[in-house]
Amino acid sequence: MSAAVTTELKLIGHWIGGETVRGGSGRSGPVYNPATGEQTGEVDFASTEDVDRAVAAAKAAFPAWRRWSLSKRADLMFRIYQLVEEHREDLARLLTAEHGKVLSDAMGEVQRGIEVIEYVCGIPTLLKGGFSEQVSTGIDVYSIRQPLGVCAGITPFNFPAMVPMWMWAPAIACGNTFILKPSEKDPSASILTAELLKEAGVPDGVFNVIQGDKVAVDALLEHPGIAAISFVGSTPIARYVYETGTKNGKRVQALGGAKNHMVVLPDADIDMAADAAVSAGYGSAGERCMAVSVVVAVGDAADPLVGAIRERLPKVKVGDGMDPSSEMGPLVTREHRDKVASYLDSGPEQGATIVADGRETSPDGNGFFLGVSLLDNVTPEMDAYRDEIFGPVLSVVRVPTYDEALRLVNENPYGNGVALFTRDGGVARQFQFDVNVGMVGINVPIPVPVAYYSFGGWKSSLFGDRHIYGPEGIDFYTRTKAVTSRWPDPATSKVDLGFPQTR
Ligand code: NAD
Repeated sequence: MSAAVTTELKLIGHWIGGETVRGGSGRSGPVYNPATGEQTGEVDFASTEDVDRAVAAAKAAFPAWRRWSLSKRADLMFRIYQLVEEHREDLARLLTAEHGKVLSDAMGEVQRGIEVIEYVCGIPTLLKGGFSEQVSTGIDVYSIRQPLGVCAGITPFNFPAMVPMWMWAPAIACGNTFILKPSEKDPSASILTAELLKEAGVPDGVFNVIQGDKVAVDALLEHPGIAAISFVGSTPIARYVYETGTKNGKRVQALGGAKNHMVVLPDADIDMAADAAVSAGYGSAGERCMAVSVVVAVGDAADPLVGAIRERLPKVKVGDGMDPSSEMGPLVTREHRDKVASYLDSGPEQGATIVADGRETSPDGNGFFLGVSLLDNVTPEMDAYRDEIFGPVLSVVRVPTYDEALRLVNENPYGNGVALFTRDGGVARQFQFDVNVGMVGINVPIPVPVAYYSFGGWKSSLFGDRHIYGPEGIDFYTRTKAVTSRWPDPATSKVDLGFPQTR
């Protein structure tokens, strides 16, 4: 079925040097309202030359920007915080219109991003270095953190405001200039962000936006003027971005996909676990990198847990994200919706049991909806277990023991998030010790760390050495310089050809 086209398409361009710029490539892509299936916009796709222009603007802005005093930069971050807060709903409405998530969830997304801006309002403290006096007679050593230069961020469709904030806020607070390449599926939030930054007083060229696809990404990865790349998206592209970026001499952090397990032990509070499974499995239609995708039911927990989840599913209200009564919106594109729905065919073919079939409960109309779906008796060989479905299809894997559950989680190639539901503190402590996953929730299903910790998975969920935002974000966007200094003192000055000693 081809999508209907509204008469007035919104045209979405780039943002370079403090103003909107239409691309010169002649290439562009459609933007949809997933709730209606209508095309609502057309976004420019950058050429290599467009990327060159953005890098030139960011490069030109860097020398003056890095000279701004820390207190002036902190002041500006406070103004940005204030403006984004004031426009939280405007941003959220753009997210709902192009991504499809319900408005309350979109408001939550922007809020979690704002917390990262709030964190970097403390940039003077975050950039403090160390100082050692008298390391040798009359000699002091100190370390300073300096910005890298022009940094770029490439972001996924599922958090069009928050994930960019994880990047640009620490990057510019540290004194870098920045180029954002948002997802081509929901690009409008990036332009509103640029307008808000300009209004707050960010100098032209410090923050730029390049719209587009692989052409833009490759141009960023290869550009000699770019010092560092942050990426969040799927694992194959994360690996590609990491390999290509580092080959071109850049510092890269590339966060990839996920398959998050929620382990439920027989002693868990089953109602609490069922509420958590439904919230974390179907929130944002399962299009969250921290969504629970697999419930691992241990021993006797399985039957009551599946029963409690099943009971809750008919109450989940699926509909247009702008309708305040909707709890779950559509998927981002028709193609993605169909791919997610295909697991409801392959699951039973491979031996799983359908407990709830979202194809039967999807709202009518042309929107990209799929109702909440539950597969039971899923095993690790099935596609539903192996693939990152990224939609409202939750799988239940039944295992006999805690050890089996732990082995399953640790053998999975992804290691983004995991949750354990239990009343036993000793087991929980052992689990956090043993599990090979970057973010762990104990009776908490979506353990996204607060802004003053850092976010990042292990294994195929992250390529690179540093997690994103928080203290590791500051590390990523700065490099340290160690200065050894001595001031003229004729009493200690002499020629000495030996290697410098401290005694
Ligand atoms: P994606 O990998 O398809 O796209 C991410 C970005 O890469 C986009 O800007 C896109 O334009 C660009 N891109 C796509 N194909 C490319 C190619 N061949 N070459 C170069 N660039 C390319 O991801 P998505 O579908 O937008 O987002 C969903 C994925 O992101 C899921 O796998 C999800 O788990 C992951 N994700 C991870 C995290 C995390 O923190 N680990 C957070 C959010 C999303």
